[in-house]
Amino acid sequence: MDAVKGEIISGADSESTKLYTDLKKQEEKERLSLKEYINRKTVTKSGLQKAVYSNIAKAEDVHNAVVNGAEGIGLFRTEFLYMDRNEAPGEDEQFEAYSTVAKAMGGKEVIIRTLDVGGDKNIDYLNIEKEDNPFMGLRAIRYCLKNRELFKIQLRALLRAACYGNIKIILPLVCTVDEVLQAKRILEECKAELYNSGVQYKDDIKLGIMIETPAAVLISDELANLVDFFSIGTNDLTGYTMAADRGNREVSYLYDSNNTAVLKAIELTIKNANAAKIPVGMCGEAAADPKMIPLLLKWGLDEFSVSTSRVLKTRKIICQSE
Ligand code: PEP
Ligand code: MG
Repeated sequence: MDAVKGEIISGADSESTKLYTDLKKQEEKERLSLKEYINRKTVTKSGLQKAVYSNIAKAEDVHNAVVNGAEGIGLFRTEFLYMDRNEAPGEDEQFEAYSTVAKAMGGKEVIIRTLDVGGDKNIDYLNIEKEDNPFMGLRAIRYCLKNRELFKIQLRALLRAACYGNIKIILPLVCTVDEVLQAKRILEECKAELYNSGVQYKDDIKLGIMIETPAAVLISDELANLVDFFSIGTNDLTGYTMAADRGNREVSYLYDSNNTAVLKAIELTIKNANAAKIPVGMCGEAAADPKMIPLLLKWGLDEFSVSTSRVLKTRKIICQSE
């Protein structure tokens, strides 16, 4: 099975057996050579300090991220906490998960995304109505703003857990200024509730947004004045920019993060973040793309959040770039 190409070769002949045996040896050699990057800082040849973070889906994944040299967690996809069960996790359970990650990272940045449900991620007990086009429907921040109690449970857990490390909150699929303003108001409500109950929480928690829709890109200058940081979600941004479903083979030729349209969207987002002097990262798959990294460095991306297995390779590429 070639997991890189997503192919299964049945009845492999001696030629392809040799090809794959050699490939395996080469990969093992590369994996060992990358170990020298575990404790290295991510600095380009010209001396620019960058950061390589890891994306995680479960609190337990944090150990793997640390072992692989991640300088932070750039995306904790919390929807996995809500999956494979019959009811949503309560505030205390979520507090445990978030504070565990924060403590394990020992003060390094941990960016936790609020529930990103809908689209390709369905959770039965949340009773999301069947939609003709779920990627254009009630997903992510839209769902949370409509289901405030569920949203507030998560925000309160995050505010409490933030006392145990360097937690930042990030909102998925933002399209408008109003969504950010609403989320900010709800966050303030949560702080007031915790304050009134005498529960410890972090008042000055940082709030960022994912840039994963063309709408957010086009108003990224305005959005940058409202939030503390951006993270570019190229998985969705590519789909929405190219109007191509990431899971549809028929249009996979369009689903390309290196397409000029997507590159222009990324460049504009970074430019507007830099102009507003807020940090900008990327947590979509493209952050680990060797073709993309030189461009991201040229445009001024600060932080690259990649899957744990790609942290060291990404750091190596950055350290070897100008
Ligand atoms: C993205 O869209 O790039 C992203 C990181 O979010 P997800 O892949 O979880 O949709
Ligand atoms: Mg996304």
